Amino acid sequence: MTYVVAEPCINCKYTDCVDVCPVDCFYEGENFLVIHPDECIDCGACVPVCPTEAIFSDDDLPEKWSEWLELNAKYASEWPNISAQKDSLPDADEWKEKADKRAHFSEKPFAG
Ligand code: SF4
Ligand code: SF4
Repeated sequence: MTYVVAEPCINCKYTDCVDVCPVDCFYEGENFLVIHPDECIDCGACVPVCPTEAIFSDDDLPEKWSEWLELNAKYASEWPNISAQKDSLPDADEWKEKADKRAHFSEKPFAG
């Protein structure tokens, strides 16, 4: 089992999830965060603090977002770790309410 970040996180990066994760298992892309499936201890602490409701256990991942299970595993091994909360992306509040953001997902790692 693991927890998974799904599509609603795109272009938000509120990072409240990072603040509560006891094992620092989030990894940062240009406009998205993923969870490392081998490091997540399945505590569930990140789920209620995510403003976009983007985080699910793999058991509860909605079918329409099933691809994010693999995408989290893939990018967790390619992107840098993030262990401290930071400011959200500039237009996060606007993007938070949007649906069908998949085309805006960036495969690029966070570059500082
Ligand atoms: S709190 Fe939610 S929207 Fe913010 S970075 Fe974490 S998963 Fe993404
Ligand atoms: S479920 Fe717990 S260990 Fe896994 S990413 Fe969320 S806060 Fe971290």
